[in-house]
Amino acid sequence: MFGRQAFAGLLLSDGIQVIMFNLVIFGPPGAGKGTQSEKLLDKYQLTHLSTGDVFRANIKGETELGLLAKSFIDRGELVPDEVTIGMVKDFVEDRVSARGFVFDGFPRTIAQGEALDHFLNERGTPINIVLALEVDEDELVRRLLERGKISGRADDQSEATIRTRFNEYLQKTEPLLEYYEKQGKLNRVHGMGSIDDIFARLVSCIEDASAS
Ligand code: AMP
Repeated sequence: MFGRQAFAGLLLSDGIQVIMFNLVIFGPPGAGKGTQSEKLLDKYQLTHLSTGDVFRANIKGETELGLLAKSFIDRGELVPDEVTIGMVKDFVEDRVSARGFVFDGFPRTIAQGEALDHFLNERGTPINIVLALEVDEDELVRRLLERGKISGRADDQSEATIRTRFNEYLQKTEPLLEYYEKQGKLNRVHGMGSIDDIFARLVSCIEDASAS
């Protein structure tokens, strides 16, 4: 499905040199994007860009960006596109020596997906693969409420906020599945089971795509 060129130089377990590799990990809130991102970073030596983490760091640091984002995040709504896109561009441009990125929680709207493609294509380093974690809704709610007990995240505590986040996902984010399917980059991955089993499925998608 993918040209060899798109993956030329991807660092696989056999130690081939990396040139540049960009991956999007996609899925609804609670799908396990953050957990699986950590494992992917470790295996492929990529740089993590979790927009949620960057927003939370800014809220903690009481920056202007944090103050702006906080009201949206606390309500479970998406932060406006222009703010989020600007933040992602700055993050990528500040990391010139990165071998590639795991985009986690970005893009979340078609406008963000188009802006990311435009930005990365101009740099000659497009998205290589999109891994979409699929998890039953009951399991997502269970995971989020469980995480809420330890994460301290305001947006994990109330069922009403969790519901708003799901609605935002369904209305604004899910259309990106078709966007990436049309580009031939989408891989749907069963996101239930043990962390290691799910990770093995992700790795096999990456390695199948890089070998094809
Ligand atoms: P996350 O940690 O990915 O679950 O994100 C937590 C919250 O940060 C989301 O519910 C949104 O309010 C905000 N956020 C994270 N990423 C984005 C994005 N790409 N676009 C808009 N808002 C975002």
